[in-house]
Amino acid sequence: MDLVIRNGTLVTPGGAWRGDLGVAGERIAALGDGLRGAREVDAGGCIVLPGGVDPHVHLQMPLGAYTSADSFASGSVAAALGGTTTVIDFVEPHAEQPFEAALAARRAQADGAVAVDYSLHMTIPAWHAEQPDRLAGLGALVAQGVSSFKLYMAYPGLRLDDPSLYRALRAVAAARGLPIVHCENGPLCELLCAEALGRGERRPPAHARTRPPAQEAEATGRALDLAALAGSPLYVVHVSCAASLGRIRAVRAASAPVYAETCPQYLLLDEQALAGERGERFVCAPPLRRSADRAALWAGLQSETLDVLATDHCPFTAAEKAGHADFTTIPGGLPSIEGRLALAYHFGRAHGLSLERWVEVCCAAPARLFGLARKGRLAPGCDADIVVFDPLRRVTLRAGQTLRERVDWSPYEGLEVEGWPRDVFVRGRQVVRDGVFVGELGWGRFVPRAPFRI
Ligand code: MN
Repeated sequence: MDLVIRNGTLVTPGGAWRGDLGVAGERIAALGDGLRGAREVDAGGCIVLPGGVDPHVHLQMPLGAYTSADSFASGSVAAALGGTTTVIDFVEPHAEQPFEAALAARRAQADGAVAVDYSLHMTIPAWHAEQPDRLAGLGALVAQGVSSFKLYMAYPGLRLDDPSLYRALRAVAAARGLPIVHCENGPLCELLCAEALGRGERRPPAHARTRPPAQEAEATGRALDLAALAGSPLYVVHVSCAASLGRIRAVRAASAPVYAETCPQYLLLDEQALAGERGERFVCAPPLRRSADRAALWAGLQSETLDVLATDHCPFTAAEKAGHADFTTIPGGLPSIEGRLALAYHFGRAHGLSLERWVEVCCAAPARLFGLARKGRLAPGCDADIVVFDPLRRVTLRAGQTLRERVDWSPYEGLEVEGWPRDVFVRGRQVVRDGVFVGELGWGRFVPRAPFRI
């Protein structure tokens, strides 16, 4: 064997146990005891887990006059440092741009730049959803490994009305894809925004008030109903509140093929942040909620109503967030591509999240749901994407210092976590050694994904 990681606590699909993991070339070759290899890494006292899979990131994403601050290069390096070895980003076709051309353009930005493996979801904007010939082309995308499709119920222009959403869900299901849906009632939020501005409410707390939990729950319920009507599975992105979770729990109890994710910001932060001195930085959609919602989300992660912890990593700089006349023009999004695994480990322990469940929501479930057949598991034949996680390493999160995300602030600034990735491998190649990036831009590859299977 080329590499043996010895004597760690291996978190495998069959449970966690003490042993060795052997790598040959780019794949995991064996799990066992007393393995020997040309190179050996001592993982005594450490947790050995599959590389993290973050299925919701926005690197160098255009947003009006802005572009999210992390490029494919800087964002994938930060991902690697945080123990994430596969990310799934998005393709957003312009009005006149066919899916295939948009996919090629997005891949040209990422290929050669990424330090970890990546894949892409295809967005179906309103202007494509209304053209039957474009929807007929989804099968060709699935055949190329793009097997999930982002549908928006919010944001003017992008968002789908109910007939378009229904048509798109039906087309995605027919193509054996997985639709992933942003569930917010966009038209209603726009009305509430206009009314708030009319009353002179311009500060960031109005952002949360104009996107209340009930509208998210309404949109979630409607998406669930339309998916059932269309005979489609459904993956709900960034669930932020107990009300939405309740809708999801109800249909899952009836065995509907419905899956859901939440994000670190909804588990760890609340709407009080919007009232603070730098409240504008915390604008994201759905907005931060109340502490009771946070508690419900932790319970949902633990009880398996929520399948996945993804980041929705979408950083904008302090200067880009600041100085807006009102909350409606602040670019929305928060960073956490680097801290995800460590935040989930540290705070998860306090909320009763087991080691196995931590690996399930951060690695195994996103790989399985999104058709990454060789990712997210420590098993022979899988890619040798491996994290040696030191549960005693203490890190105080500081933008630009301990965090290498390319953004000059962090929502978790000054927080100390216990537990951090020490060594990280992507397809057998070490990319992080003792917390330092030693990989190479361009080592990461586009990974074609399998069609969706229930
Ligand atoms: Mn997003």
